[in-house]
Amino acid sequence: MKRIAIFPGSFDPITKGHENILQRALPLFDEIIIAIGKNSSKQSFFTLEQREKWIKQVFVNEPKVRVETYTGLTIEFCKKMNAKFILRGLRTSADFEFEKAIAQNNKIMSPEIETVFILPIPELSAINSTIVRDIIRNNGDASPFVPVSIDLKEAEKQFKV
Ligand code: ADP
Repeated sequence: MKRIAIFPGSFDPITKGHENILQRALPLFDEIIIAIGKNSSKQSFFTLEQREKWIKQVFVNEPKVRVETYTGLTIEFCKKMNAKFILRGLRTSADFEFEKAIAQNNKIMSPEIETVFILPIPELSAINSTIVRDIIRNNGDASPFVPVSIDLKEAEKQFKV
């Protein structure tokens, strides 16, 4: 059976941290589906289309990676995609506490699904999408924090103040 993992998140936008976690997880799975969660109560900074486009660009040469969008519970999306693994990154102890609760509750609801955690390499552990968005909002250069293949310039224009 194919080992399929879901890598869920907002990817608003994708960062070098996301890219690194995904690349390191690739040898573990036959397919990884990057799943952009559509959260109606959380307003995103970049549009869904833009976020999806960037992720596809980053992994254009990686046949094991697919990009999808979803609403609702991640475990339900896993079942729909026939995925038995959820991939998450753990940057801080706060991440750990938050992720632990979700993973343990998911385990109760869907015992067949395992959550797999990967620790970022130290150089990338301080990167997160919130900081990247703040830099863009304040007209800074966020390029050191995003994958080299994505061009923030086009999308940044609409947020210049
Ligand atoms: P969410 O809103 O679901 O946390 P994110 O796009 O912020 O969505 O993150 C998706 C996943 O990527 C999470 O598991 C998060 O911990 C992980 N992640 C984000 N940035 C990094 C990083 N710099 N290093 C490792 N993992 C990261």
